[in-house]
Amino acid sequence: MDTNATPYIGEHSPLNRITAYFSALQSSAEEYLFVVDLTTNRVLLSDNFMQDFSFPSNFVDDMDSLILPFIYYEDRELYEKAIEAAKEETRNTSFECEFRLLDSKGDYGWVNLRLSIGLDEYEQPEIISGVISRMDRQIKADNVTGLLNRNVFYADLHEELTMNPNSHGAVVVVGLDNFNVINETYGHRFGDTALRQIAQDITNVLPPDIKLYKMDSYMFGFFMPDAMPEEIEIIFSSVQLCMREIRNVEDTIYCTASGGAAFYPADADDNITLVRYAEVALELARVKGRDQICFFEKETYDRWRYDIGMQNLMQNSIARGCEDFFLCFQPQVNASDGKLFGAEALLRWYDKDGSVVAPMQFIPMLEKSRMIIPVGHWIIENAIIVAKRWQEFMPDFQMSVNISLYQLEERMFFPFVEDCIMRHGIDPHTLTFELTESQSVYDWEFVNKQFSEFHNLGIKIAMDDFGTGYSSLGFLKNFKCDIIKIDRMFVKDILESSFDRNLVKYTVMLCHSIGMKVCVEGIEEEDAYIYLRDECKADQIQGFFFGYPEKEEVFVKRFKKS
Ligand code: C2E
Ligand code: MG
Ligand code: MG
Repeated sequence: MDTNATPYIGEHSPLNRITAYFSALQSSAEEYLFVVDLTTNRVLLSDNFMQDFSFPSNFVDDMDSLILPFIYYEDRELYEKAIEAAKEETRNTSFECEFRLLDSKGDYGWVNLRLSIGLDEYEQPEIISGVISRMDRQIKADNVTGLLNRNVFYADLHEELTMNPNSHGAVVVVGLDNFNVINETYGHRFGDTALRQIAQDITNVLPPDIKLYKMDSYMFGFFMPDAMPEEIEIIFSSVQLCMREIRNVEDTIYCTASGGAAFYPADADDNITLVRYAEVALELARVKGRDQICFFEKETYDRWRYDIGMQNLMQNSIARGCEDFFLCFQPQVNASDGKLFGAEALLRWYDKDGSVVAPMQFIPMLEKSRMIIPVGHWIIENAIIVAKRWQEFMPDFQMSVNISLYQLEERMFFPFVEDCIMRHGIDPHTLTFELTESQSVYDWEFVNKQFSEFHNLGIKIAMDDFGTGYSSLGFLKNFKCDIIKIDRMFVKDILESSFDRNLVKYTVMLCHSIGMKVCVEGIEEEDAYIYLRDECKADQIQGFFFGYPEKEEVFVKRFKKS
């Protein structure tokens, strides 16, 4: 204790009598200690208490007004009531209460206040001694915003659901988009201040009896009995407006919020599932582009779970050497005589029930998870092995393999292809790489650079699904390729639509004029083939009319004799 600063407290003051004890006690305690002399209302504070809260001295006259600003605003009444009750007491007894207190680092933490009353010889309350201890073991509050945390949310929601079993309502989570960028840019201190402000602003837009909780670093949550979807949408719009205000604090700050909601009892009737579903809906809102709220949908959720299940199965399958994957081959013929020119290798996957899954159902997932890299290696290796086998009876047999952009970005892709060609001794001039997903190409320079290396090896490059992207003419200008594959979309109605006939015809002319070959995909009828051969002068044709994608054995049986 800072005895030099000790003012005169009166010879008969109870504080005077206990100062020595107090001094001994505080040196061994981590808690904040204080003693109130009820005869003078003077308060003796322990050193740590005085220092952590920058109180002027160990002796203060009005502790309440000093400490109240540090107590979370919702809890101030709890503190005041406990002190009042203690002052009125006429027995040697004690009181306890819990509240959130701002600590020296600027974080809110739950503390326990224990008050003991000391009576004088006339049985009148003379002193109150207080011990404030942190409740670290059972923290209930988020230490940045002071809001109750996820555990309390679960408990409160559980209570609501069990107390009112027939009730209905909404469970809502609000996630801040990109908030980590704010922390990174302006530092965590600023980030914490902004979070506190956001917490306050969101609380203000909620109906007065609805509590806001902090679910994790950048996520808030609340539940609202009797709420209908429309009300939640309106509340969420107000939350979005709060975010705009944050942005205005400094014009460079950009933060939005996404929301997810689940409704009880329609979606689920237990607290854990409801929160999970609300979080699933939040994830959906983020996937859809953020800054919006989504409601939980069972169908989307089931599809998502199916995808996750499939992803796990595929991961296992890849670990076992791409065991459940297989390739089908679809013939490509010369348009002029209908004779076999080559084949396109098309990937398939056996689901666990043995059914065959089509690539559109799993390629996007393989790409997103980058599993396309190992699978892509397997595809190329196996397509080359098959091509090599077929070239024994048809030496110039051409094999086309689909390559997605993600594969090009892999550093080892080119050396792998080079090595594969060497190991199997195949002529690279009999290989074509088809670039799929071309609409997402934003860096043509990179793509062209990668492909020019393959080109130098002798591999031909094709632009797949031509016409389905955003700027097909732009592709022609930017992408240095040998073959354009016109998508089935433009030929499926070619016999009925003169517009489609002209479009394909002039596209072929245009490609020929700039030295590119054209393969037309999706031909199912003979008349369409004749038109493409005679009027359009397409170079190659691929379509069910000439053959479906088949496994190697079926393909060979069919074409070996031709
Ligand atoms: P794609 O590369 O344009 O392949 C042509 C697709 O059109 C194949 O579908 C084929 O079965 C289908 N098709 C061909 N002719 C006809 C026809 O006459 N009528 C109809 N209705 N359809 C026809 P598939 O095998 O389902 O493949 C779909 C897409 O999946 C492929 O389109 C390609 O983008 C992707 N894909 C397939 N295998 C691979 C692969 O190994 N790697 C990568 N990255 N993507 C692949
Ligand atoms: Mg293709
Ligand atoms: Mg295609």
